[in-house]
Amino acid sequence: MVTIQNYINGKLQAPIAQIYLNNINPAKGEAFGKLPDSNSEDVELAVLAAKKAFPAWSNLSVAERVVYIERIADLIEQNLERFVQAESLDSGKPIWLARKVDIPRSVSNLRYFSAAITHFSSESHFMENHGINYTLRQPIGVVGCISPWNLPLYLFTWKIAPALVTGNTVVAKPSEITPYTAYLFSEICKEAGLPDGVLNIVHGTGQNVGAAMVAHPEVKAISFTGGTNTGQEIARVAAPMLKKLSLELGGKNPTIIFEDANFEDAVNTAVRSAFTNQGQICLCGSRILVHQSIYEKFKTAFVEKVKQIKVGNPSDEENFMGAIVSKAHFNKILSCIALAVSEGGKILTGGKALSVKDFEQGFFIEPTVIEGLPYSSRTNMEEIFGPVVTLIPFQNDEEALEIANYSTYGLAANIWTNDLKRAHYFSEKLETGIVWVNCWMVRDLRTPFGGQKFSGLGREGGNDALRFFTEPKNVLIHYK
Ligand code: NDP
Repeated sequence: MVTIQNYINGKLQAPIAQIYLNNINPAKGEAFGKLPDSNSEDVELAVLAAKKAFPAWSNLSVAERVVYIERIADLIEQNLERFVQAESLDSGKPIWLARKVDIPRSVSNLRYFSAAITHFSSESHFMENHGINYTLRQPIGVVGCISPWNLPLYLFTWKIAPALVTGNTVVAKPSEITPYTAYLFSEICKEAGLPDGVLNIVHGTGQNVGAAMVAHPEVKAISFTGGTNTGQEIARVAAPMLKKLSLELGGKNPTIIFEDANFEDAVNTAVRSAFTNQGQICLCGSRILVHQSIYEKFKTAFVEKVKQIKVGNPSDEENFMGAIVSKAHFNKILSCIALAVSEGGKILTGGKALSVKDFEQGFFIEPTVIEGLPYSSRTNMEEIFGPVVTLIPFQNDEEALEIANYSTYGLAANIWTNDLKRAHYFSEKLETGIVWVNCWMVRDLRTPFGGQKFSGLGREGGNDALRFFTEPKNVLIHYK
């Protein structure tokens, strides 16, 4: 049994109330450890520690700060397999994915931001015959980072790295459902000699820990990734306190396949974009729009490929899909499939929970493809965040655009065409924060990342993240 501890003021410690939650292995459906069920008193300690650490940390030179971040990245790399095993065990994600994407990308996040800060500059505006303005970019103070369960260490580091390199001190809360790699991260921070209080990790539920962080007057900014409802609740509490907010929320992303697409690439990538991480990535394409002239051909090829997906033990390298992250989420996905059927959807493959030998209590769901639903149906409007996609035929470009934008969400879109004019036209007209043309989830960490509409507020990544975690101050030196 693994007992996770909070990391506050440089120490690994039990929650003040000594209450713990079970940490569940979703592939087995049983507890493999416990984690603190912390409350506002633990948050208070963490905020005090962060506040105390702020003057010294923010006064270090950039070169001094990044030494710590690089050292942490080195130590994760040296312990890569330990992190990979922990991430897969905790979240149910297939081990190949943790090894190929989650943990290497966490290292890249740390390395990217420790390099980016050394190239960060601020503006200067010269006023002829009057003077010169320059803009200082200063750290905000104590900031809060709240991350979800789908890409646990990946999104945790994506937030804390830019927060720390810009000189802030941090109180962070990983999802209570997947706390394990953040705990290993705190052990690494100790080993790297990160000064006490610079990063504090408080484990527990959103209702207790997350809400206390958002409401705390000393936490000056909140960077949050998670569901839209939670983001709205955070905004409701933080807005009257005039806190800086970055909200990366849900999505219902369209994958649009035109008649001139490179067919094989489009099919293969549509399968990956629908079912990677059991469909639990905010960037997954969950509505597949296909031109009517190739609809039947695409459907046959797509369903054939989906039927070949292996689902099961996350530690088995052969399995493309592992377990759904929790019992509650497993039940939610199954209820979404039932809703699709009640709305008149036809299940082309999948549609059920899967019993896996030796993992009978695990939370597995078959990759599911549904057709025959209007684009305005609840199934096509609401986020499922699981291995469930719908196929929707369209007649022409105009209709494809109308369907794609007929969503309250606007995170990402994925289009497949060889027509340059069409690619540019759609890129301009799609109401999303990200458009991929003839690829999916190819990421450059320098680019702005985030969504329009109910998919979020603000952008992360690159200079957007460095700007979010700094306060601009204009200085005018008047000389005449
Ligand atoms: P949630 O919104 O349920 O939770 C996200 C985090 O917020 C968790 O750490 C959670 O704690 C915490 N939280 C919950 N309630 C509060 C509160 N009142 N105040 C402060 N914090 C709170 O999302 P999930 O963890 O279920 O993640 C899945 C969602 O995240 C999906 O909707 C998905 O689309 C979205 N997402 C968006 C991404 C993007 O970049 N746009 C990327 C990845 C996911 P706990 O759960 O531990 O109780």
